[in-house]
Amino acid sequence: MITLHGRGVYGGIAMGNLFFHRRRRPVIGKSQVQNTELQLARFWKAHQKAIVQLKDIYKNAVPEVGRSSAMIFHTHQMILEDMGFTDAVIRIITEEKVNAEYAVMKTSQNLAGIFEAMEDPYMRARASDMKDVAKRILEILTNQPTQIELPDYPVILAADDLVPSETVQLDKSKVLAFVTMGGSPLSHTAILARNMDIPAVISVGNQLQECHDGATVIVDGFQGEVFLNPTPAIIERLTEKKKKFLAKRKALQEQVGKENITLDGQTVRIAANIGNASHVHTALQNDADGIGLFRSEFLYLENDHFPSEEQQLEVYRSVLESMGSHKVVIRTMDIGADKQAPYFHLPQEENPAMGYRAIRICLSQPEIFRTQLRALYRASAFGNLAILFPMITSMEEIRAVKQLVSQVKEELKQEKIPYSSQVELGIMIETPAAALISDQLAKEVDFFSIGTNDLTQYLLAIDRQNAMLERFYLPRHPAVLRTIDLVTQNAHKNGIWVGICGELGGDLELTETFLALGIDELSVSPSLVLPLRKKVRETNVKQIRTQALAKFR
Ligand code: PEP
Ligand code: MG
Repeated sequence: MITLHGRGVYGGIAMGNLFFHRRRRPVIGKSQVQNTELQLARFWKAHQKAIVQLKDIYKNAVPEVGRSSAMIFHTHQMILEDMGFTDAVIRIITEEKVNAEYAVMKTSQNLAGIFEAMEDPYMRARASDMKDVAKRILEILTNQPTQIELPDYPVILAADDLVPSETVQLDKSKVLAFVTMGGSPLSHTAILARNMDIPAVISVGNQLQECHDGATVIVDGFQGEVFLNPTPAIIERLTEKKKKFLAKRKALQEQVGKENITLDGQTVRIAANIGNASHVHTALQNDADGIGLFRSEFLYLENDHFPSEEQQLEVYRSVLESMGSHKVVIRTMDIGADKQAPYFHLPQEENPAMGYRAIRICLSQPEIFRTQLRALYRASAFGNLAILFPMITSMEEIRAVKQLVSQVKEELKQEKIPYSSQVELGIMIETPAAALISDQLAKEVDFFSIGTNDLTQYLLAIDRQNAMLERFYLPRHPAVLRTIDLVTQNAHKNGIWVGICGELGGDLELTETFLALGIDELSVSPSLVLPLRKKVRETNVKQIRTQALAKFR
């Protein structure tokens, strides 16, 4: 038996035979040509065909993996349409008088090299997009198949690496799992594995080889382990693990489509937290009632420059469209503290968690904020949007925010750009100050979302980043629960709804307490939606109320 260790990018356990995808790489030679016009014509023909293929793949991928994940194929199309790529190919053909294949290969090597040399891991991962695009044109120029040809029976697919276009075109009924020698957990291939619900282990290194083709394999996507020719003991252990996992998953599937209602008839919304538009699919799969927290700052962290209004609009719109009529709460960017984007040029601070962050940056640099607000309001025309403002501590702040919102709406009206008039505005209750004046703040907004991660940090004076203080960081502390109690009462007295979007919302030990308090929404990681629903449906609030509240009142 050989055990390979890699990065598990999506959980699940699969057993089967290994199918090693041998890449029939076309051997691209450099040949001098007389007729450069002919080579240019061949390139343009292949270029056009590649664009048509990408449009088709995009169209077919949308229902399969969702609009945001399918965007990668639109991006590939944009790379092809970008003058930088085509100009470089044309220059090599005409200046060096060479064949089109060589010019395409050389261009992709040069551009991928630039990406690979970048420090940012996200940008480094973009090198594979460049190679993917070139590969497509080369396959057309050399008449190679553009899809992985799988056997008729389900296999564990192994390859040196998989590019996104190969991954999305995989016939899911034939792929039990995939294992790659290389790859990055930030790549779209890893994202697609999660979206497509295929257990995957990447980056296992070159111990995995073509000669293992046909071997019996077990993939443990939870541990990031791959067992080649497993021993009977390993087979037994992992069969047992798989059985338990499937039984748990199956039992949870029974919750899909059911109402989040307690035995005595109290309802609660269970929404999902996402950090990226591509996570929407997982939220939908887990039957979330909506998105309760989209941490938009990740969009800023994924870029090396301020995302433009158009870029933001595209992302927000895709999330809203995917969620249909369900509410999508997008939080304006919470940059600062542990979430640093170098191009913001934030100052070094003694106490960044209590420093220049979130709404404080937005109100100090309104041009950054305005771009995000414009993108959000423009996106509001495409779904059920609510906007959430982080780190609020005073009435002045929320009034200043609302003034900027009014200006943005007025601008859009003047420009005749449509937006929804139904957008709810809410604030995170994550500072003790906001909790203590929540009776006043409730008169200014449509909802509260309690951020227990920061609220615990500030109430208990425990830096949430400091691993040494882990045993003192007690989110179930009565001070936290009393604060949630106060905020909920103030929200309801003023007729607005209140949710919990911090990690505590998914703490099943506290579900009874939150139901007893009358919390309207719990927003949690997508995989926690169904366990939470099960818990809610098993609770009788009338029976447990007194006991649950006595713990901290
Ligand atoms: C919180 O503070 O509870 C929260 C949800 O926001 P974040 O974890 O992003 O600070
Ligand atoms: Mg927070």
